Amino acid sequence: MTDRYASFVQSAAGRALVKRLGLPDPPRLRRHRPGDPLLPGPVLLGAAADGRLAGPVGELLAAAGVELREPTAAADARFGALVYDATGITDSTGLRQLYDFFHPVARSVTPSGRVIVLGTPPTECATPREATAQRALEGLTRSIGKEFGRGITAQLVYVTREADEGSRVSLEATLRFLLSGRSAYVSGQVIRIDTGKATAPADWERPLDDQVVLVTGAARGIGAALTRVLARDGARVVALDVPAAGDALAEVANEVGGTAVQLDLTAPDAPTRLADHLAGRYGRVDAVVHNAGITRDRTLGRMDADRWDQVIDVNLSSQERINDELLARELIPTGGRIIAVSSIAGIAGNRGQTNYATSKAGVIGLVDSLAPALHGRGISVNAVAPGFIETRLTARIPLVIREAGRRMNSLAQGGLPVDVAETIGWLAWPASGAVNGNVVRVCGQSLLGA
Ligand code: NAD
Repeated sequence: MTDRYASFVQSAAGRALVKRLGLPDPPRLRRHRPGDPLLPGPVLLGAAADGRLAGPVGELLAAAGVELREPTAAADARFGALVYDATGITDSTGLRQLYDFFHPVARSVTPSGRVIVLGTPPTECATPREATAQRALEGLTRSIGKEFGRGITAQLVYVTREADEGSRVSLEATLRFLLSGRSAYVSGQVIRIDTGKATAPADWERPLDDQVVLVTGAARGIGAALTRVLARDGARVVALDVPAAGDALAEVANEVGGTAVQLDLTAPDAPTRLADHLAGRYGRVDAVVHNAGITRDRTLGRMDADRWDQVIDVNLSSQERINDELLARELIPTGGRIIAVSSIAGIAGNRGQTNYATSKAGVIGLVDSLAPALHGRGISVNAVAPGFIETRLTARIPLVIREAGRRMNSLAQGGLPVDVAETIGWLAWPASGAVNGNVVRVCGQSLLGA
């Protein structure tokens, strides 16, 4: 599970060798610690003429204690982040403003700094030319993610024009997530902020205060890291796993003062037993995280039907049954969130994983179909799609394939379970309620399925 190469590269001898041989150079990523400032340096905030977001974003960043600089800042300044409001660009000739802003400061971002471009969803643009220009922002952002190096990440955030209180709060939540070390392994993503029900926390250090959050597959790996992150941020966690993982589950749940539920999600009575537990104990569940997942790899010609059935049932069908039961019994309140764990295998496909990739692509279909259907009830539905994450699962991959998986991304390293956990955590915040229908990859901008 340890990335020995990354540790070696950070030693003096390693640095010399990497430079001489032009080897991959995985930087040490900035990760969130409670009490940290949002960023290691000031934010350079720029805007195209007539941008609609720079004003409100400047105000909310200033209120968050971020030091703001204007584009006229001294040439030798270093920035923790470059934030650019591109909503004012209404045709392709206006794209020149991107060059004018980014070119002079492209080498002035601190390690693990951030680049965030704000745009208007192309589907909401007034003219084809405006939609074209707004769509073009993706190419710039994804290229910056590949080009800047040193742990710097780049994202595009499309913000609905129909601004309401929900979209304003969720824009703040999203900027706080993306600027902070919580988003260490998220890069090259396009995030959409819609209208919806979103509530700012009293304290952004505890963005999940008093929220009841269910985590399936909580006994180990990503689920265990998630349980800790959610509890750190104020949630009351209901940690669920199979009875066979009971001891590990109890340990994780006790550590954070949560409750443990031993349940096989594929059991016919699992949805009702789970709903009964949540109804009896809390009367509600504010966020449901479908994290439990299994692999049963074989090439399709060699795969028996059991392997196919088990994977589809755990990874997809059980999520549908549980959603149906919790929604039918109205246990997920207005402002509630459903978050599923997909995979880049569900986006790119993977040899030997037809069953797994089918289930994980199905999870994306679930988000696409359920998010608009539940918008009216004020419930958001999103997914994360992890790439190569350092867990027991990936430690078992043969060395050469493992090394390829680790390095084939813009950050030249695997992510940690905590990186996926922090991203799910952000989607679970009540403040993120207007982030709806998104699939956010936690993959260091992997080349797979890009
Ligand atoms: P893991 O195997 O370490 O943990 C999965 C947990 O789910 C286990 O504790 C397991 O007991 C539980 N589980 C399995 N079947 C269950 C069932 N029927 N009922 C209840 N619990 C059940 O896996 P992980 O690496 O932490 O992965 C977590 C999620 O992330 C999975 O959905 C996985 O597909 C996804 N993912 C992981 C990676 C990675 O690199 N590790 C990459 C992409 C996606």
